[in-house]
Amino acid sequence: MPRKIDVPALVEGVREGRRAAIAQAITLVESRLPAHRPLARQLLTELTREPTSAVRVGISGVPGAGKSTFINSMGQRLVEQGHKVAVLAVDPSSTRTGGSVLGDRTRMGELTQLENAFVRPSPSGNHLGGVARATREAMLVVEAAGYDVIIVETVGVGQSEVAVAGMVDTFLMLALSRSGDQLQGIKRGILEITDVIAVNKADGDNAGEARVAARELSIAMKLVTQQNDGRRVPVLTCSALQRISLDEVWQAVIEHREWLDETVGLAHHRAQQQVVWMHSQIEATLLDSMRSSQQLRDLRDRLEEDVREGRTSALEASGDFLREFATQVPQMDWAQGRTVL
Ligand code: GDP
Repeated sequence: MPRKIDVPALVEGVREGRRAAIAQAITLVESRLPAHRPLARQLLTELTREPTSAVRVGISGVPGAGKSTFINSMGQRLVEQGHKVAVLAVDPSSTRTGGSVLGDRTRMGELTQLENAFVRPSPSGNHLGGVARATREAMLVVEAAGYDVIIVETVGVGQSEVAVAGMVDTFLMLALSRSGDQLQGIKRGILEITDVIAVNKADGDNAGEARVAARELSIAMKLVTQQNDGRRVPVLTCSALQRISLDEVWQAVIEHREWLDETVGLAHHRAQQQVVWMHSQIEATLLDSMRSSQQLRDLRDRLEEDVREGRTSALEASGDFLREFATQVPQMDWAQGRTVL
């Protein structure tokens, strides 16, 4: 990142679809330097003046489910059909230097070679909130650059699925066929946010087993959907490696999106996601501000000890803490989306 960031030039470069400008703009929105936040905001305000209707798809699945193979194959297919495809990732465990698991260029080697594809690894960081924010903002950058299909990949662990579901239109889960309990390995909370399921590796000797797994999953999903909006979640089979039934899976993604638009309305759905996002930003910033003050950290440690020793009640201690926090609020700088004392 150059020391002097020329935001208008960056905006122009992104709008023209120049890769170097896109990469630099994403580096800016990912930056954790407080001085970069106002510039990132200015950039995003400029870039989002016109709404886009890019297809936003989240892809999840346990490691080994075939996510990168699928994105590599599907991405190429979509590029062949005339789309511009961007691949982003949310992996809070990734550190750039330690070798990011997701979005790694070598994992989607063929796709990254294509002119109309842009693959970006997960931003590094252990806090899901920060990683999710950076990916969400990177999505706005690539959309402004003219990418019309955005794939956001996430690993099948932790809360990252929920974060990704909160930024995409359709959430696709890649499952594997395993004999016995097909729901094993798929956490309940994830089924509830899943819009389309594809049982991958349906090729060779495994094809029959995959079909059985898909049927069983489909029955299991009926129980989940009864509690939700009543929409039937399609369960398909595919082979990312041999490129079998990829068009059918994409068709299911598009059909879900059309259904969403006809029922809730895509614009309304995205607006609602923004509302949820606003709340999570408020909470994250508040927590961040509480942790950023040494005085508050010391007080918290003392209060913890008092509660543990029975010198004060939890309720009283939390009141003491919040009162002290309130006295510090006027000195906090909230302008940058994070507080600095
Ligand atoms: P990820 O960890 O979910 O990204 O999974 P990968 O895409 O890295 O795939 C894990 C392994 O499964 C690799 O050895 C792939 O070649 C293999 N694989 C992925 N998709 C398929 C498929 O459709 N069929 C078969 N037979 N193997 C696959």
